Amino acid sequence: MTAEIICVGTELLLGDIVNTNAQFLSRELAELGISVLHQHVIGDNPDRLRELVSQAKSRSELLVFSGGLGPTQDDLTKETVARAFGDPLRFDEEEWQKILTFFARTNRTPTPNNRKQAMVPTHGRKLPNAHGTAPGAWFEADGCIAVLMPGVPREMKAMWAEQIRPVLLERQNCTIHSKTLRVLGGESSIASKVAGLFESDNPTAAIYCKTGESEIRVTARAATEAEAEAACDARIQQFRRILGPNAYDVDVPGLEYTVVHALQAKGLHAATAESCTGGLVAQMLTNVPGSSEVFSYGFVTYAEEAKSRLLGVDPALMERYNVVSGPVAVAMAYGALHASGADLAVGITGIAGPGGALPGKPVGTVYLAGADARSGKAWLQRLTLGGYRERSIIRTRAALYALDLLRRMALDLPVEEALAVPGPDTPPQTLAI
Ligand code: ATP
Ligand code: MG
Repeated sequence: MTAEIICVGTELLLGDIVNTNAQFLSRELAELGISVLHQHVIGDNPDRLRELVSQAKSRSELLVFSGGLGPTQDDLTKETVARAFGDPLRFDEEEWQKILTFFARTNRTPTPNNRKQAMVPTHGRKLPNAHGTAPGAWFEADGCIAVLMPGVPREMKAMWAEQIRPVLLERQNCTIHSKTLRVLGGESSIASKVAGLFESDNPTAAIYCKTGESEIRVTARAATEAEAEAACDARIQQFRRILGPNAYDVDVPGLEYTVVHALQAKGLHAATAESCTGGLVAQMLTNVPGSSEVFSYGFVTYAEEAKSRLLGVDPALMERYNVVSGPVAVAMAYGALHASGADLAVGITGIAGPGGALPGKPVGTVYLAGADARSGKAWLQRLTLGGYRERSIIRTRAALYALDLLRRMALDLPVEEALAVPGPDTPPQTLAI
C-alpha cells in the first residue's frame, strides 16, 4: 500500500509549531509496511487543498490527514475531502450531543460554527474523538482511503492507535512485532557497520541516537504473531553478530538494567567510587528495581580527603600523580572493593569542566578503573570526552562507560582499549597513562 501524509495548518507553515505528527505517522506507517511516498504541509486554503487532494488521490492508496478539523471558518479539510471523494457530509445528532455535553462540562456555550464539527461522512465512517470535540472521518472511493484526524497530537495518536491502525493492519492481513536493540556508540559508527540491514522493508530497522548510545528498532510483519516475533529475533541476531558486545541488550530501558540483571544472574555484588560523576553511576544502578540485591555501597568521594579517608587512597599518590590520574582511579576501585566487600568495583576520577584543565589533561579527561575481587585484577581506561563540551554530557558518558565496564567484568566480556592491571600492588608509575 502507498500513502501520503497531509498535515493541515497555517501555524505549521509559519514555523510556529514543529510537525511532530508527520514524524509519528511516518514511523507508524513504515512499521505497517505502508510506503510513504510524500509528506505535505499545507495552510488552511481550500483551493490549494483541493488541488493537492485530487493529485494525491490519483496516485496513492491511502491519504492520512492531521489538523484542520476545528470549528472555525478556515477549517475546511473535511468539506474539501468529502467533495473529492464524492461523499456528502451529513449532520450527526449523536456527535452533536457529545459536543454539547463537552461544552456544558467546561462551562462554555457552543457557537453555530461548532455544528460543523458534528458533520460526518454519509457513506464513509465517523471516527469518534475520545479526547476532544472534533470527530475524525474515514472516506473511501476509487481505490483510495482518506483518514482525517485532529491536529492535537494527543487526540491524533489516540484515534490512530484505537481506530485506524487496527483496521489498516487487518486490511494488510498481517500482524506486526517490534523489538529494540540497544547499542553503545554513536549512530554513524553503528550505521556504517550494519548499513545493509537497514535496507530491508520486512523486517524494517530504524536507528535512534541517544547520549553515548543508540537504539535500533526492528519491526517485522507476518501472518501470525509468532512468525513476526521470530523474524524480529533473527534480524536482531544478525545485528548482534556484526556489532559484537557493544550491542548490549534487547527491550530494556537502559544499560543500568542490563548491569543489574547480569550481576543478579552471576550472583555478584558491585560497589562504586565516584568523583567527577558525583554518584551518577550509583543513582542509575539504584533506579533499577531489585538493585539492592547486587549493590550495597556507592562512595561519592569528591575531595582528596574523602578519597583517602573512605577508600584508603594514599595522599602521596594524589600528590605525585594528581587526583585525576590512572593510579588514583585504580586505587579508588581497589579501595571500594576493600571497604565494601563487593566482588566488583569501579573508580572514576576526571575533569567534567568547564574549568579545571591540567597540562596534558584537557577537560573531559576521565580515568575509569574496574577492579575484580575474584581475580585480583583490574582494568584501567583513559577516556577523552572533552569533544562533547558540556559538563552534563561528559558526566553522563563517563557514567555509561563505568556501567559498561561493570557489565563486561560481570559477564567476562573483553574490555577494549583498557590497560590490564595485574593486582593492587602494581607499581603506580605503570598506571600513569
Ligand atoms: P482544533 O479543533 O483544536 O482546532 P484541529 O484538528 O483543527 O483541532 P489544528 O487547529 O490544526 O487542529 O491544530 C491544533 C493544535 O494541534 C495546534 O495548535 C498544534 O499545537 C497542534 N498540531 C497541529 N498540527 C500538528 C502537527 N502536524 N504536529 C504537531 N502538532 C500539531
Ligand atoms: Mg484548528
